Amino acid sequence: MQYVNEAFEDNWVAPLGPNVDAFESELQDYVGGKHALAINTGTAALHMALRSLGVGAGDLVFCSSLTFAASCNPIIYQNATPVFIDSEPYSWNMSPQALYRALKTHAPKAVIVVHLYGVPADMDVIMEICDERGIPVIEDAAESLGSLYKGRHTGTIGRFGAYSFNGNKIITTSGGGMLLCPDIESRQHILKWITQSREPARHYEHTELGYNFRMSNVLAGIGRGQLEDIDLRIERKKHIYNTYKEAFSGISNVSLNNIPDYSDSNCWLSCLLIDEASDVKPVQIIEKLEQENIESRPIWKPMNMQPYYVNCEFFSHIDSELPDACPGL
Ligand SMILES: *Cc1c(COP(=O)(O)O)cnc(C)c1O
Repeated sequence: MQYVNEAFEDNWVAPLGPNVDAFESELQDYVGGKHALAINTGTAALHMALRSLGVGAGDLVFCSSLTFAASCNPIIYQNATPVFIDSEPYSWNMSPQALYRALKTHAPKAVIVVHLYGVPADMDVIMEICDERGIPVIEDAAESLGSLYKGRHTGTIGRFGAYSFNGNKIITTSGGGMLLCPDIESRQHILKWITQSREPARHYEHTELGYNFRMSNVLAGIGRGQLEDIDLRIERKKHIYNTYKEAFSGISNVSLNNIPDYSDSNCWLSCLLIDEASDVKPVQIIEKLEQENIESRPIWKPMNMQPYYVNCEFFSHIDSELPDACPGL
């Protein structure tokens, strides 16, 4: 409230302003990243990362298949073609094996790796595979702000990193996002695009297509306040995860989603895996939890199974035998 009030008192109820600058630098300090750009949604952050990489018509972009539609919709916004990469069964994140296999026959312009439900993907292996071929990686860290991969914050490892502050995320600005850019030049260029691509001229001059995607100074104030207690929120999420883990530990055929040893997850969402052999069906558990006023729902329906994306290519994990030449595996 204090930061929001300041915005009103200083008459900065506008995009740009002291809260936006401070939110960018405070988030940078928190994740240990650089060149942060506050933007109106996480989706727009991913979209602008693709545009900055020159993704356009005729290009392929790889993306995790098990994710929210906002991870891959920006590929379509740029008139490019998504290719979906399956999950590996442990972390449910992008399978390095399936990625490796897909790269044998395809040359994507970028790879979007999602850190699903806050659990970090195996970035070292994925980065090695992509770096070797000079393919830039965009981290969709919308759900994973505060999660660490081998001590590094998710979102700071790939060429670009995108965070979301939508209402359901670990911190929120009601709606908002942040893009970590690789250098000052790309950040400046994207800043221009998201503020209507106005050229530095008194009259309104445009040489490029623009968008109105900047975060407002009022919402950045909410973000600053939320960021101050992110550690408490993560602690609470971990407590919730551990509570469920313990509660279900005596029951065979169900287990919580795994958190790999290489990572420290923000535990954004606690997920229950139900064995196919179980007599209990997911809907029965959902109904039972509902009686206790606990909300639950199925995890994302994979993008390669969505009617909108069903014709896109998909590389499954199961068909990808361990490649001998795959580094890190
Ligand atoms: C929420 C989310 C997004 C989109 O972020 P918005 O700020 O809602 O646009 C993108 N990817 C994933 C995985 C998300 O969960």
